[in-house]
Amino acid sequence: MWQDLDLTVNKIAPDKRTEKPPQDALGFGDHFTDHMFLMKWDRDNGWHDAEICPYGDFSMDPAAMVLHYGQAIFEGLKAYKGENEQIFMFRPEDNLERMNTSALRMCMPRIPVDKVLKGLKALVYLDRDWIPTVDGATLYIRPTMIAVEPALGVRPAGQYYFYVIMSPVGAYYAEGFSPTKIWVTDKYVRAVKGGVGHVKTAGNYAASIMAAEEAHKAGYTQVLWLDACERKYVEEVGTSNIFFRINDELITPPLGGSILGGITRDSVIELARSWDIKVNEKQISIDEVIAACEDGSLQEVFGTGTAAVISPVGELCYQEKKHIIAEGNTGELSKRLFEELQAIQNGKVADPFKWILRIG
Ligand SMILES: *Cc1c(COP(=O)(O)O)cnc(C)c1O
Repeated sequence: MWQDLDLTVNKIAPDKRTEKPPQDALGFGDHFTDHMFLMKWDRDNGWHDAEICPYGDFSMDPAAMVLHYGQAIFEGLKAYKGENEQIFMFRPEDNLERMNTSALRMCMPRIPVDKVLKGLKALVYLDRDWIPTVDGATLYIRPTMIAVEPALGVRPAGQYYFYVIMSPVGAYYAEGFSPTKIWVTDKYVRAVKGGVGHVKTAGNYAASIMAAEEAHKAGYTQVLWLDACERKYVEEVGTSNIFFRINDELITPPLGGSILGGITRDSVIELARSWDIKVNEKQISIDEVIAACEDGSLQEVFGTGTAAVISPVGELCYQEKKHIIAEGNTGELSKRLFEELQAIQNGKVADPFKWILRIG
């Protein structure tokens, strides 16, 4: 059925176009472009009715299964504008493949990666004037799949929507590339092995909000999650993967089922190895991290994710004790990785890893 997935394009009327927000006040995820991609799936017809259409509401039955049992998965990636109006996406196929990994775990239908990628390119190109041009600002892309069959049974749905919306977002570090303060929680956990921590499904984020709220109340930016069984091993930071630089070695927790396999994480590992930096994917306990902080061997800590790319950590608070990392400064490797990844994403330097897809 994927073979005959034709894409119709229904452009917005010129007088219905949304006025673009000023580029210096974009924030994150507050504004949406003029068009979206939408396709539907049902058991009899597979994916069908693929279209690019004006951004807008769709109606759903109050019994739509996603609203009750949370069968919802999503992705996050970006489009960038380089010199001469060139348009790039960073590893988009990896995002769509990861969405299929999520779909499998959530008993949702797989998407046809090639066709969706084509639709995605057409969508970004159509709304290309929405890609910000100021330094660091980008177009954030959010593919989403939800169960829309109206029924109250807990089982795979017979109908789904897949859609892609896009949001111009401001530079993550508008006020400079500065370290964040992280709250280590041993009260809440994010995911367990055997669960859904390794998939981008809505419920993971709903379950994380309370811990983040407590961190914010205490004056911290994000939560550092420990493993659910022993509350001992480091897993992730907020919705980012985490790296530690100890004795010139880069350490990041292995993908064991409870951690999301970030595309930025993978890119950092490849990039660091290409610079002859030793990267070790291994379990690391919070006690080891704190011991390394105290004996001076902990050089840097940073998070990785599409939104911020690299997010340096300047302070960890664990069991009410504060630990300052690298005197609260941004580490040199964090800075180097951030600059190189951003330059690759903007098409400013060579792309030896073939991560960039040029679409216009
Ligand atoms: C999306 C996400 C990441 C980062 O993945 P990227 O592909 O690098 O954006 C890390 N952890 C969680 C929990 C996530 O949802």
